[in-house]
Amino acid sequence: MIEEQIKAAVRDIPDFPKPGIIFKDITTILKDPALCRDIVDAFAERLQGMRIDAIAGIESRGFLFGLTLATKLGVPFVPVRKAGKLPYTIKQKAYKLEYGTAVIEMHTDAFEPGQHILLHDDLLATGGTVTAASELIKELGGVVCGFSFVVGLGFLNGKERIAPISDKIIVLAE
Ligand code: 5GP
Repeated sequence: MIEEQIKAAVRDIPDFPKPGIIFKDITTILKDPALCRDIVDAFAERLQGMRIDAIAGIESRGFLFGLTLATKLGVPFVPVRKAGKLPYTIKQKAYKLEYGTAVIEMHTDAFEPGQHILLHDDLLATGGTVTAASELIKELGGVVCGFSFVVGLGFLNGKERIAPISDKIIVLAE
């Protein structure tokens, strides 16, 4: 099963990036091309029948499977980036972190108004990042039609937080 394969491949790094945090390192997944293929296939299977006009991936690990999945589905990939990285006209959104704030940006022509956007990231923790990205997509006239994550940290209740935005939430391994 894909869930067990992902869990076996992910590497736990204690005290990264700071003491007390156990970081889920997904670079160990990326070294396994058969597993990467299975992950993209599992997403594609679970998204069957949905209208998806584009996939938005969150910098930086959301770019990895985000682009691969978009390519498989034959839809555009659009990046959601940290402040100051995108070269064209942008719209930005500030959101709260545990300590301080972060800013994400998208190009204003990332997609057309009314298009259905799947939001993708490697990992769902509190859901704060994809909530901010959803607001940005909405402000640009898009419809967030669902979410996809390789890994979810169930104990942080991210799913409950983002369910009001869209209840189509795919988490391959929790
Ligand atoms: P959230 O906004 O849901 O609290 O945090 C999710 C964001 O932080 C994602 O962009 C994800 O890449 C990153 N993140 C937080 N914790 C981890 C972790 O343990 N492993 C990985 N790979 N990313 C994490």
